[in-house]
Amino acid sequence: MIRQVVFSLLLLATLASSAQVTDHRPAQYNVSGILWQQQSGEYKALCYQAYNLARMRLEEILRTYRDTVPLAIVTDVDETVLDNSIGAAKDIVSGRTYNDSSWKVWVEYAKAPAMPGAVEFFNYAAQHGVQCFYITNRKETDKAATIRNLKEQGFPQVDAMHVMCKQGSVSDKEPRRQEVAKQYNIVLLLGDNLNDFDDLFFDKPTVVRNANVDKVQSYFGSRYIMLPNATYGDWENALWHGKKLSAEEKDKLKWDSLVIY
Ligand SMILES: [Mg+2]
Repeated sequence: MIRQVVFSLLLLATLASSAQVTDHRPAQYNVSGILWQQQSGEYKALCYQAYNLARMRLEEILRTYRDTVPLAIVTDVDETVLDNSIGAAKDIVSGRTYNDSSWKVWVEYAKAPAMPGAVEFFNYAAQHGVQCFYITNRKETDKAATIRNLKEQGFPQVDAMHVMCKQGSVSDKEPRRQEVAKQYNIVLLLGDNLNDFDDLFFDKPTVVRNANVDKVQSYFGSRYIMLPNATYGDWENALWHGKKLSAEEKDKLKWDSLVIY
């Protein structure tokens, strides 16, 4: 009898712990991050902090710049100037993870709100003769909707030349940055993803990305302005860099990547 009770208890404990480990539900990974983005004052404050810093840096640059090459700022779009958390929340409540078809619907809707402080900063830059280039990995076919969205939110210089989408399958932004640098002096870069700043970070595994962040640490807050994004980014791809994994394998790798002492 006692043996039976002990066995039942052990079985229950095993079932409970395996339920805990296997019930990851990837669609729900982002609940906390998206809630933080939509509801927390802290998210808003970090955005203002980034844009206040960008403004201080730009004021300083404008005060001291002596060159004749015109100035440019390069910015990413998603989670840098536009907040796509509503689209991501729709995926969560529908039990989906990120997917191209619901992303396309969200992009076409063109109702992503501007991130706190962004519109004011870019208008300040434009009013002071600085060219603002929106370098995004949205597809070329999303360009018209992206322009519509950015314009409606009040961003300046939003046209076919300043909004630079992904060309074909090239997600590295370096060639587009080089294109801008042919005519302009890029003095500030804004992004929520290290790939928005430099090729140093493109398509690199986690350990290299982190080492390179240390290498250029003085650029953060001076040349690079980082915006908060707790829900997605190339840091995730970096975890399984170079490996083709199924959703289940990625899920396992995420759990295995948690650092525990
Ligand atoms: Mg982005």
